[in-house]
Amino acid sequence: MRIFDLHADIGADIYLKHNKNNKNVFKNDHLSKLLSGEVYGVTTACFFSGNEDWETMQAMVLATANELRENSETTRWILSKEDFIIDDKILAVISVEGMCGIIENPQDKIDWLYDNGVRVGSLTWNDSNRLAEGWPNDPLRGLSAMGEEVIKRMNQRKMIIDISHTNEKTFWDIISLSQSPIIATHSNARSLCNHQRNLTDQQIKAIGLKGGLVGLNAARGFINKDVEKQNAHHLAIHGKYIADLIGYEHLAIGFDFMDFFPERYNGSMANDLNSALESQNLLVALKEIGFSDHEIKAIAYDNVYKFLKRYL
Ligand SMILES: [Zn+2]
Repeated sequence: MRIFDLHADIGADIYLKHNKNNKNVFKNDHLSKLLSGEVYGVTTACFFSGNEDWETMQAMVLATANELRENSETTRWILSKEDFIIDDKILAVISVEGMCGIIENPQDKIDWLYDNGVRVGSLTWNDSNRLAEGWPNDPLRGLSAMGEEVIKRMNQRKMIIDISHTNEKTFWDIISLSQSPIIATHSNARSLCNHQRNLTDQQIKAIGLKGGLVGLNAARGFINKDVEKQNAHHLAIHGKYIADLIGYEHLAIGFDFMDFFPERYNGSMANDLNSALESQNLLVALKEIGFSDHEIKAIAYDNVYKFLKRYL
């Protein structure tokens, strides 16, 4: 069954490998895995840890965009609602994970990102930057004045706001300011796994009320503290929990696979969700805990497809 993965650091992989003189990273290192896992939609994230400048952000976005253009025979780069066609091509959306490179002229920077094809963005990764706070940092600091300008401009340009890495203060600041729905591309339920990268019940309800989405994250540390339970079955239980809170219509998948960064992330994923090749294991687990085929189809693909088509 088709899957739309809301979060894969493919943009970062492309950029880092280009710097080592590798070409066509998407085709060589990602395409066959995505197709094998029936991942027919993917958000290719350009990841910024907090140390990158604006020029690096631009270079990564442009490198990702170039590869999506080069792979137009197999992949459809989503820029507007007219691009939503379901066929044999993979739908790809460019996101930025972290905006540490924006230190001045925030409206112009958001305009540049949008005009160069970015359609989803988060203001921080785990860092503290000029715009906002990531989860590990000062709990009393949320959006800055510049961060507020960014949110307003993203709303105006119809760039979708992702809150997966923000601290709670930033989250609530964004919830009250944003005119559009927000999404958590790759976060689970904190009630089931007490990690600050996961969402409290109140946060999940706020995302649902605003019409947004929560994407299930397959990184083992966000599923369960017990190593034996770091698997697709227990990730599906997060899905059940979130669907019971806000409805399966607001549930999606953002695996955050990292198999293409072996030197940095080896062993960080669920036992049976190591790469896009194993994507379907989560759908099997959703079925085993009682989701219907209709609900699984929505969670796997349709919810994201409809959301993006409506808001882009
Ligand atoms: Zn992330």
